[in-house]
Amino acid sequence: MDDLLAGFSRGLYSNWLWHRTLRLVVDAGEGLQLGLGSKVLAPTHLLITHGHSDHVLGLPGFVAARRFGMGDPEKPLTILYPERSRGVEAARGTLERHWPREPFPLEWVAVVPGAELPYGKSRLVRVFAADHGSADLAVGYLVVERRRRLKAEYAPLGDRAIRALVREGGRERLLEEYEQILFAHTGDTMPLPLDLFRRADLLVHDATFLVAEDRREPIHASTEEAIVTARDAGVRTLVLHHLSVRYERDDAIPALRRQVADLGFAGACWLLDGRSFIRLGG
Ligand SMILES: [Zn+2]
Repeated sequence: MDDLLAGFSRGLYSNWLWHRTLRLVVDAGEGLQLGLGSKVLAPTHLLITHGHSDHVLGLPGFVAARRFGMGDPEKPLTILYPERSRGVEAARGTLERHWPREPFPLEWVAVVPGAELPYGKSRLVRVFAADHGSADLAVGYLVVERRRRLKAEYAPLGDRAIRALVREGGRERLLEEYEQILFAHTGDTMPLPLDLFRRADLLVHDATFLVAEDRREPIHASTEEAIVTARDAGVRTLVLHHLSVRYERDDAIPALRRQVADLGFAGACWLLDGRSFIRLGG
């Protein structure tokens, strides 16, 4: 997991996640630039889920450090953020006041649920609505890849029969397009419809509470809800994040391992806690 992701997560303290192969960061909690180290210029995109302090207060430090990291300090950074988010606008204002004459190569893109942005050749970033209760918009993000595969009706045929069909009429008519979710991140949210995450390679899900009974306001998911969502959506790898600091880790981690086993999640399950990815099952 450390080859693919780096991050930090403590609910209400600081949250960010760096996806190395997709070259994107989700959220900018405090310490983001410390976590990225010399790689502060590696991300091309920052996807902000909402404007709460634990998701945006690392923005000034991150942007400022990009002047000094390894690479071209003029490299642009595209920042997607929920339209009219007051927390994000405040962090942006801090940047602009602090460095009024220094034009950072930042591209700000306000997004709303349903928005799609091209992300490389056959990929796109799709925005969905999170269920986080505040007056300001909270969103999650999918990175989707368009792929082609053999239509189901031809699947039972053997290689020779397929090759004969291709010779006869070309391969185009045998193929269909489909979408593969490479990465999904819910930000902070209550449970969401399963269809959003069907067969995703990787889902990062809000998991603030160990049990739903600990929840006072309906704005965060429990670990059980996140695991059930991933199980029922057929997700391959689940990363739980945003676990509340109220739980003693020595108690929480064995309890989480039991939840994963009892709920029968067949994929790999991890907890991002602080800077560590802790394997919970699969
Ligand atoms: Zn929040």
